[in-house]
Amino acid sequence: MSLALARKYRPKSFDDLIGQESVAQTLAHALDTKRLSHAYLFSGLRGSGKTSTARIFAKALLCEKGESSRPCGECTHCVMAAENRHMDIIEMDAASNRGIEDIKELIEHTKYKPASARYKIFIIDEVHMLTTQAFNALLKTLEEPPSFVKFILATTDPLKLPATILSRTQHFRFKTIPQPLVQSHLEHILHLEGIGFEKEAIEIIARSGAGSLRDSLTLLDQAIVYANGFIDVRTVTEMLGIIDPAKLEALMRRILERDEAGVLDFLKEASDYEAEMILDELTLYLKTLLLERKGILSPLIIERFFRIVADAKSLLATGSDGQFVLSLTLFKMLEAQQLTEIDAMIKKLESRIGGELASLASPSLPETPREVITITQEEIETFGETSDASTAHDATAAPSLPRETSPDTPPPQPQNEKPTASNPSASTPPSDPQAPWRAKFAALIERIYDRDYDLGTIFEEHITFVSFQEGVLQWESTVEGEEKKALINAWGVIKMLVEEIFGVGTRIDNIAKKKAPASSDNSVNSQTPPPHPTPQAASAATHKDADSASMLEEATVKSSCIAPEAGDTEAAKEKDPSELLEEPMVKTALELLNPKKVRIKRNV
Ligand SMILES: [Zn+2]
Repeated sequence: MSLALARKYRPKSFDDLIGQESVAQTLAHALDTKRLSHAYLFSGLRGSGKTSTARIFAKALLCEKGESSRPCGECTHCVMAAENRHMDIIEMDAASNRGIEDIKELIEHTKYKPASARYKIFIIDEVHMLTTQAFNALLKTLEEPPSFVKFILATTDPLKLPATILSRTQHFRFKTIPQPLVQSHLEHILHLEGIGFEKEAIEIIARSGAGSLRDSLTLLDQAIVYANGFIDVRTVTEMLGIIDPAKLEALMRRILERDEAGVLDFLKEASDYEAEMILDELTLYLKTLLLERKGILSPLIIERFFRIVADAKSLLATGSDGQFVLSLTLFKMLEAQQLTEIDAMIKKLESRIGGELASLASPSLPETPREVITITQEEIETFGETSDASTAHDATAAPSLPRETSPDTPPPQPQNEKPTASNPSASTPPSDPQAPWRAKFAALIERIYDRDYDLGTIFEEHITFVSFQEGVLQWESTVEGEEKKALINAWGVIKMLVEEIFGVGTRIDNIAKKKAPASSDNSVNSQTPPPHPTPQAASAATHKDADSASMLEEATVKSSCIAPEAGDTEAAKEKDPSELLEEPMVKTALELLNPKKVRIKRNV
């Protein structure tokens, strides 16, 4: 291998340029239409083809047959330019000739006509290296050079150029050459050279070249020497001192399988390598995983891993022990996977909550044993007596809670009385401690409306907020008939919304209120239920526990709908209490609320 590949395969025409199509096209077009500028600036990564392009461009300008994107390649100018020995193409490396004296000499040169060609072309490489004075000296010539002078400036760092230079040149930006293009170019050259190779090995070389064709070619030169006839992955990874991608893949598998022993094995193996290189390779590997979208790792985990690697790299930058940092990194990766578990847990929890919410709204509650169903005749009679004392001939009152049977409760009005326009909120003091709860109640109404507009209408019209304290939401209800049925049917939803707004476990104290004439006495009393149960109620209360209390309260609403209406009191009286449990509405209520106890009160 006498000649370096980079030189041997240096592109000779615009068509040969790898990965710079747009630049090549624009320059070719400028040549063919003779729209030429006197100064060009080529910027881009090293090895991206700037100097090659400058030389191709120079040759195209000088061809005897006229400026053309396809110079003949046969005339003396073409031949001399191709051999890089044309008198009128002057190359200068600004990295080593950066002072004002060098530039003064160059400017002197521009004053003399070209030796033989039509132009005198100055190619200044690494132009950003010039000193400020050198730039200033160059400016005037750059702006108004003699008609036979062309400048081609090349730089890897255009940001370091003064704006005055940038504004006097046509700027072409050279792209980083995509890895697949580099790879196929390398493979093409190997075919021409008759050297065998493993595709993966060339991929590694192209990747290591990081977008620079020249660097990649230099590495390929090295690999050819190193490999002795056949370039395989082992040779290349050894040569570059990088880890075999297969090992990295195995490592990732071990991490995913939480194979701690396997990871420890890898760490032992990895002690031969630079920790930083492994971290770099890991980053590249993660990038590949992300882009290939094979679903081996979720983007969330990849991001997590990437952060861990980035942390590790900054640790290395502070001079930490490489092996230690690498171990830390891999174990952090093992741990980071718990994220997936947390993710799964969240999903599970969500579906469970979803299920519970759904079951609240549907009658199919999980079976909890119903403790007792108390319907002894004796109790019914006792109840009958006590309620006789308190609720007189209230045929329409719902079978109710002990507290509602308290003698303080005023006898509700007969059902068939006209509804009144009594406004419960009118009797509430304007600034009460219940205000926030009242607001929440308004929100509850909104939510019910959201859920079902008709239901919202019924609820708003008939249910009036009374109070909320110690987890008990007390309201008054004037709902009757079909509307009552609708409310009862939607009870699960209402209860759910109440818990959502007032907190889980909120109990509802429903006070069935008759639509009564606007007698102030009545309305005040009905809104202030006795805070404590009466003795009779207390005796009944011994039967209930905290849990079932709310159930009973809810059952109040349900069972009240099977309470005899004013007209059929007699029929109701004759009903066997146990039959009541078979009433469809009661059955639904029992299913829905799953109360531990059911108490039936006979209203006489
Ligand atoms: Zn020619």
